[in-house]
Amino acid sequence: MAKQYDVVIIGAGPGGMTAALYASRANLSVAMIDRGIYGGQMNNTASIENYPGFKSIMGPDLAQNMYDSSVNFGAEYVYGTVSSVEDHGDYKTIKTDEDELQAKVVIIATGSEYKKLGITGEHEYGGKGVSYCAVCDGAFFKNKDVVVVGGGDSAIEEASYLAGIVNHVTVIHRRDQLRAQQVIQDRAFANDKIDFVWNSNVTEVLGDDNKVTGVKVVNNQTNEQSTIETSGVFIYVGLLPMTTAFEDLKITDADGWIKTNDQMETAIPGIYAIGDVRQKDLRQIATAVGEGGIAGQQAFKYVEKLSDKSKSSVSEH
Ligand code: NAP
Repeated sequence: MAKQYDVVIIGAGPGGMTAALYASRANLSVAMIDRGIYGGQMNNTASIENYPGFKSIMGPDLAQNMYDSSVNFGAEYVYGTVSSVEDHGDYKTIKTDEDELQAKVVIIATGSEYKKLGITGEHEYGGKGVSYCAVCDGAFFKNKDVVVVGGGDSAIEEASYLAGIVNHVTVIHRRDQLRAQQVIQDRAFANDKIDFVWNSNVTEVLGDDNKVTGVKVVNNQTNEQSTIETSGVFIYVGLLPMTTAFEDLKITDADGWIKTNDQMETAIPGIYAIGDVRQKDLRQIATAVGEGGIAGQQAFKYVEKLSDKSKSSVSEH
């Protein structure tokens, strides 16, 4: 028989872990499922400077601190990949690769993944110079030259991080203005190990059999083509929601982000969504944590309402 919980949380990033803390502290039985290590994108982040309480903290350290809090009141961490969620009204079925769980409430906190450029050589040289994680792979490029593709917070923050390790960083951006927050931009502009190639698209990753040797670039204003020699290509061109397992629930917008109201409720009673996977403007650890708190509290109210409903139906008989 499927193991039963009050609340199953899918995803153990900052949102999921906070929801686990709130729901378990309210005395609900909670399972938090993740297909990898807890912490989500925090594990790919070198230093975090905009989470209150810490002037600066390493992403993996904040992930560990949050995990310790999240299981402190009895929430269980379950390893697995969720393949589907079925809504049966007062209970939901959560299928993983190996198991089936049942819950009164499901909180989706699966976050997002890095978008690929979709160019020749990107897939072929994955792990051989192409990377989506400076924290994981930066050390392989000590004293070498790398390029970073993108102009958002991730690209520019990680360019500054890489500049502390590698010989030189070239940021290639498709416009002549960055999207990143001003403070992140200012730091990168002030770093003499970082330079910028503007109005340019990377069209191909070049390499020999085993490793990246360069990228082909085209200036989208002049159509001029060039090759930049590099050992590493760090790609940060945005995010895609991780919602394929929930397609049948029909709770996403056209791009796959999950729609909720301010209480984190989706269109299906008892199913909530929080963190980066939600349709919203600001994707931050701080916002995910706030949403996790709201969903944990809403889960408590929802379970209470279900139990009142079943008590009154028993007394009517
Ligand atoms: P993002 O904000 O969506 O930025 C993506 C960047 O990649 C943009 O500069 C975009 O160019 C460029 N881009 C998109 N598609 C491209 C393509 N096909 N070819 C070339 N360039 C392309 O993504 P992100 O930087 O990963 O950030 C995601 C979210 O996390 C954001 O909400 C961000 O604020 C947040 N975040 C926050 C922090 C922080 O607060 N410290 C750190 C990291 C991430 P255009 O500018 O021309 O659109």
